[in-house]
Amino acid sequence: MPIFDYHCCDCDAGFELLTMSSTIPNCPQCGSQHLEKQLSRVAAPSHSTGLMARGRAQAAKEGHLSNFSPAERKTR
Ligand SMILES: [Zn+2]
Repeated sequence: MPIFDYHCCDCDAGFELLTMSSTIPNCPQCGSQHLEKQLSRVAAPSHSTGLMARGRAQAAKEGHLSNFSPAERKTR
């Protein structure tokens, strides 16, 4: 089941919910159903680019290449 990020248009709260796509959630702050569905972190992998780069640098330092893609592995 996907996790969606919501933004409440009434009280400006942001929250995430595990929900079925057909379910209209209520704001946990004010109970409003006037919500905007945001792009979830799962659908926006660009958020983790920095983390991945850090992880790869750490992996290289430790001498294992498990975080590298097959194409990158070929060059080493
Ligand atoms: Zn609200």
